Amino acid sequence: MNGSSETRPYRVLARTYRPSRFADLIGQEAMVRTLANAIDSGRLAHAFVLTGIRGVGKTTTARIIARALNCVGADGTGGPTPDPCGTCDHCTSIGEDRNVDVIEMDAASRTGVDDIRELIEGVRYRPVSARFKVYIIDEVHMLSRNAFNALLKTLEEPPEHVKFIFATTEIRKVPVTVLSRCQRFDLRRVDGETLFSHLGAIAGQEGVEIAEDALRQIVRAAEGSVRDALSLLDQAIAHAAGGRIEGDRVRDMLGLADRMQTADLLEALLRGQAAPALGLFDSLHEAGADPVAVLQDLLEFTHWLSRLKAAPEDARAGGAVSDIELERGRTLSAKLSIPVLTRCWQILLKGVSETHMAVDPRQAAEMVLIRLAYAADLPTPAEIVRAAESGETALLPQPASPSPAPAPETTQPMPETFEALVALFKSRKEMVLGAHLANDVGLVDYAPGRLRYRRGPRAPDGLENRLRRMLDDWTGQRWSVEAVDGGEAAPSLREQREEREAMDRREAIDHPAVQAALEMFPGATVEAVRNVESAPILGEAPQEPPTDPEDDAEAEGPHGELPP
Ligand SMILES: [Zn+2]
Repeated sequence: MNGSSETRPYRVLARTYRPSRFADLIGQEAMVRTLANAIDSGRLAHAFVLTGIRGVGKTTTARIIARALNCVGADGTGGPTPDPCGTCDHCTSIGEDRNVDVIEMDAASRTGVDDIRELIEGVRYRPVSARFKVYIIDEVHMLSRNAFNALLKTLEEPPEHVKFIFATTEIRKVPVTVLSRCQRFDLRRVDGETLFSHLGAIAGQEGVEIAEDALRQIVRAAEGSVRDALSLLDQAIAHAAGGRIEGDRVRDMLGLADRMQTADLLEALLRGQAAPALGLFDSLHEAGADPVAVLQDLLEFTHWLSRLKAAPEDARAGGAVSDIELERGRTLSAKLSIPVLTRCWQILLKGVSETHMAVDPRQAAEMVLIRLAYAADLPTPAEIVRAAESGETALLPQPASPSPAPAPETTQPMPETFEALVALFKSRKEMVLGAHLANDVGLVDYAPGRLRYRRGPRAPDGLENRLRRMLDDWTGQRWSVEAVDGGEAAPSLREQREEREAMDRREAIDHPAVQAALEMFPGATVEAVRNVESAPILGEAPQEPPTDPEDDAEAEGPHGELPP
């Protein structure tokens, strides 16, 4: 497929497909319109701030603005334009990151007052060749208080030839004194459908075959970030090694439970079937799913079912839902009432924070599941008929007591091992960073508070900063995260797992029973090795319902109208 990848260094998709014109920015139409108007009418402030979640196009926008301000057009006589030519000296040098008048600084790595002083020193001098000297400061909220104060003096009386472009994921951490001197532009989280078709188009251009389900998994995990989505697509392409990218593979890559398994689990719980639910949880856990992540999947699924019930017409909102999932969701939500879903949500929400804090998260998660199974109050057929006649609002008894407020966010204990660290990212729903850690770095050494690794070719720029920031935040301690060259690095976790699987497979192939089977089916190959004892037990005969005497709705056993 990508035969050239061996002869030249791999270029990540996010870089290859980085937009160089406003028109190519996806999902930011409103912002682009405002910005283009401001440039057209010459009403662009001296300083502006771009805000939005990570990977949504802030620094890309900043660079396009730098071009728009400095473009002289193909004939060298043009002025600032919302549609930079892309061919003049300024456009090309900015595009190649080598324009001396466009200065970029990452405030996450240079937070001090001296860094800012050094930068401000240069403000007095006129641009070397461009119309404006453009200072792009990324993650500006990371600057120290003193650094902000130093910057503020310049912002109060900026020279005519200078423009500041700040980018931040956390606008609330930027002092109001700074914000009040900036024009503000908000970049939106890119909606699921837009991201879905964007990725599909790129996969097409790359000549990569990808299943719809796989694409939706990626879109869901990216949560509106174009960069994250492209980075995941990159990884999926690498793992498919030239083959078609299937949903299973992407789920596996992200360490996600199949949404269908989540649906099975929730259904068993809401039927009050604790034993099959625990069995399913066991098999998810053995397959590598983190207990907190499983609860969060349930939480997310409950939210989605509730939305499906409350607003069935925009079931696709978010764009991350496949037809099969939608079908399953509709069947399930038709059988559940909003009060039941609300109660389920509350138990899970409380359970997630309990599990976060627990010494043994697996035990804690199991207790949450058992609680859910016993609180289950699935409507009987009679109740559904009654509800249909009465307009559904009073479908089920309200929860007996007011719901407990979710426990406050607490500081995460320091992960003891590198594996625990990776699991932490997954349980915090930082799927993309978790996947990079598992797939794209080779561990050099790890101690709580300190991580050193060797970067693989798909580790994105700024990975260390993003990891460090989150870890500082979650654990309340200062972390050091460093990429090192040379030295001994372990294979990535994924490579280690693949090696183990290959060994299992070789062992399995040598097993006499497998040899006999292979002889009986000429041409057959061993596709997967699985421990039979840990197979899900959902397909077995219905379990005894819980024997809570008040639970007479459940005493009849599972209800025939639910899908098996
Ligand atoms: Zn130009």
